[in-house]
Amino acid sequence: MPFAALRDVPPSLKDVQIALTRSHKRQPRGNPTAMSELRKDPVVGRWVIICPNRAERPNAFIRPAPRERSGPCPFCAGHEGQTPAEVFAFRGPDAQPDGPGWRVRVVPNQFPALDGRGGVGRWREGLYQLIEGTGAHEVIIESSRHVMSTSDLSVEELAEVFSAYRQRLRHWKQDPRLRYGLVFKNVGPEAGASMEHTHSQLIVTPLVPVQVLEEISGALEFYHQHGRCVYCQIVSQERESGRRLVLETPRFVAVSAFAARFPFETWVLPKEHGSCYEDMPEAELHELAAIFRRLIVEIEAVAPRVAYNYILHTAPFDTAAALHYHWHIEVIPSLTRAAGFEMGSGFFVNPVPPEEATLRLRQVDREKGTGTFCAKHPKGR
Ligand SMILES: [Zn+2]
Ligand SMILES: [Zn+2]
Ligand SMILES: [Zn+2]
Repeated sequence: MPFAALRDVPPSLKDVQIALTRSHKRQPRGNPTAMSELRKDPVVGRWVIICPNRAERPNAFIRPAPRERSGPCPFCAGHEGQTPAEVFAFRGPDAQPDGPGWRVRVVPNQFPALDGRGGVGRWREGLYQLIEGTGAHEVIIESSRHVMSTSDLSVEELAEVFSAYRQRLRHWKQDPRLRYGLVFKNVGPEAGASMEHTHSQLIVTPLVPVQVLEEISGALEFYHQHGRCVYCQIVSQERESGRRLVLETPRFVAVSAFAARFPFETWVLPKEHGSCYEDMPEAELHELAAIFRRLIVEIEAVAPRVAYNYILHTAPFDTAAALHYHWHIEVIPSLTRAAGFEMGSGFFVNPVPPEEATLRLRQVDREKGTGTFCAKHPKGR
């Protein structure tokens, strides 16, 4: 048993570690004497440390807790009375609001981080600044069935979830007190999910979040220097080289982030430039759902039951269609955890080189005989 030290690790994660270790040894990178390298994110300028030898540590990856389906829960069909009254739903023609018969249901969060009662008051306390906690916090219940992951939804169901994001962003965009709507999803306790029934959330804030501001200012700087959107440039470079191209459809790509903070961090972007997700044509939602669901299936094939987050980054409410910003979804599996060094330095340490993550995900694609999904680079590079 050559991997005795890994005996306690669930088989899935052991597979990831062994595969990555072998893959790394088979394919030494540019500078084999320096095992780690620092990479700069082309948008925000954040440096990360890609450190493949750390993947060989016995406990390099978080072990997912076994998922045991409990339920029914307040998000299940027939339990609508246990949530706040819905603000939006896709439901059958005869189904009543807050009753069964729905497919996607949006309700205010019972314990909101921000709510809509306040104004836009700002004040100071000496050198400190405060703003009233006005905003919104909604839960998008993605299925009336008690399922847990995006991969448990059909493409049609996921397309309706993505459509609900669009509707709610458009709704809140009308509120002059608010500046930004962040859609995100937590799956699994390691990724911060408190309810296992599949759902995502929308938090609408009176300020633009700092991470979005960083992306916008980095993208604007790139635009001034090169006359082009940095994300469009990423899409074309990744399509050209294929090195980090995980999936491709006529309108979308999924790429491993060049300076990925986390193992298997993958971005889904539209090929055609667009700054506002909510302006995407309705007809493209199905294709987005198809590539996105496929990506989650692949991530879960590489690391079964892995917890993950995804985050939709779109332009702020008051930004008209911008030439320098490009909406995208970031998918972040919870295989490592940020700790003291990350918190104190802003450097993330990623033990899985993005090119190896890409190969692993593409291998799932090939094993399932679905290579046509990425026709341009069927064998990876
Ligand atoms: Zn449920
Ligand atoms: Zn662009
Ligand atoms: Zn982003």
